[in-house]
Amino acid sequence: MTQLERARADEVTEAMERVAEREKEDTEFVRAQVADGQAVIPANDHHDALDPMIIGREFSTKVNANIGNSDETSDLEGELRKLHTAVHYGADTVMDLSTGEGLDPIREANVEHSPVPVGTVPIYEAVKRAGSPEEITHELLLDVIEKQAEQGVDYMTIHAGVLMEHLPLTDGRKTGIVSRGGSLLAKWMEENGMENPLYTKFEEICEIFREHDVTFSLGDGLRPGCLADASDEAQFAELETLGELTRTAWDHGVQVMVEGPGHVPMDQVADNVERQQDVCDGAPFYVLGPLVTDVAPGYDHITSAIGATEAGRAGAAMLCYVTPKEHLGLPEEEDVREGLAAYRIAAHAADVANGREGARDWDDALSEARYAFDWNEQFDLALDPERARSYHDQTLPGDNYREARFCSMCGVEFCSMRIDQDAREAGEMSDIADETDLAGSVAAEVNRPPTGTHDGGRAIREAIDDQWEPPEQSVDD
Ligand code: SF4
Repeated sequence: MTQLERARADEVTEAMERVAEREKEDTEFVRAQVADGQAVIPANDHHDALDPMIIGREFSTKVNANIGNSDETSDLEGELRKLHTAVHYGADTVMDLSTGEGLDPIREANVEHSPVPVGTVPIYEAVKRAGSPEEITHELLLDVIEKQAEQGVDYMTIHAGVLMEHLPLTDGRKTGIVSRGGSLLAKWMEENGMENPLYTKFEEICEIFREHDVTFSLGDGLRPGCLADASDEAQFAELETLGELTRTAWDHGVQVMVEGPGHVPMDQVADNVERQQDVCDGAPFYVLGPLVTDVAPGYDHITSAIGATEAGRAGAAMLCYVTPKEHLGLPEEEDVREGLAAYRIAAHAADVANGREGARDWDDALSEARYAFDWNEQFDLALDPERARSYHDQTLPGDNYREARFCSMCGVEFCSMRIDQDAREAGEMSDIADETDLAGSVAAEVNRPPTGTHDGGRAIREAIDDQWEPPEQSVDD
């Protein structure tokens, strides 16, 4: 039975208990959210290394990091380093989007080593095995999906919502179909003159997912690739189909989340989230960005984190990170770090804005350390402690500066916080507020860095840091 079926049967599973512990929520609340399809616990029965987590709008906002190779670059060791970097910097899930060589060993190694859920897009492997998109058969698709389910993949992007009748709606677009899965399936439908095989075989896919408790991530193959195409007829026609498929998956006892755009102007982001929640009966929304402007290649972790913050504020449950390499090249380790920092900021900002219990305690604790000139505490509390420490030490590296009442930004004479404190000590201003009890707050477990949204994450990441060694195996083996 899947987590959804067990929840419906009033069973509180070990995964639900673990999730409740992490989120500081009542187990019955977790169970009810899963039973109603309002949250998912992606947890394939075969993923032994998994520490379960939950995705839903009533829980802390999650962040996904995409990793994976391409024909041009990366190998097994490089992919595991990316996984390690993603987990270290706070990814709540990872998606292996490999399209190059060694798909099976890379996927198996990712599942074996990953404490967070692993997602895939099986149409990529189907294309590699068929040789070209139009050569994919229904049998091959189901075979690939079943194999990946047996390998322990926790959730899969299935672009079943792109239908033949939707394709003419993209004709007037500025950037056509930009989703890889969407474009592959559109080509398949045009060449074969048949309906999307992921749609026609959807109930069979449901049965595979049910057997292994794989969660659907219903792909938005017609997502807009630029601001001009946002919120158009094609995007919303596909969304209606995704709503229908959500209910079909639920009928089969399978967990579902729904993917969303893409490129969306800031003023349309909240409407997009609210529309998905309405059409898909509250199934968790998993958004890629969205990018709120098209003009900044090289900085799209920023353009998209702005949209992601707004999406999280409006009710999106998980944010798929975008790295500075978006539109330009395959991300490397440092790009993964930059993308995750941007998205953890977005997720946390959304949690603070939504009044998530304990979320702002982290901000308050860091601000108090900052005002107290407790530099080491400020570094430890920082979202990226290594970055904060390194930037500070570029100009003031000595231990004697660890308690200095200034930094090099304003200098000793113009440090406004020192001037303010001196004035208060002289009795010219009222006392500052009491200290935040971070240790007693939810933030200590839920948000305090470097744990991301996982109270177990810190231990896991430290264990990985201590024990992880690059495998000797390569994709050529
Ligand atoms: S010098 Fe300026 S930036 Fe540095 S601690 Fe003082 S007020 Fe803050």
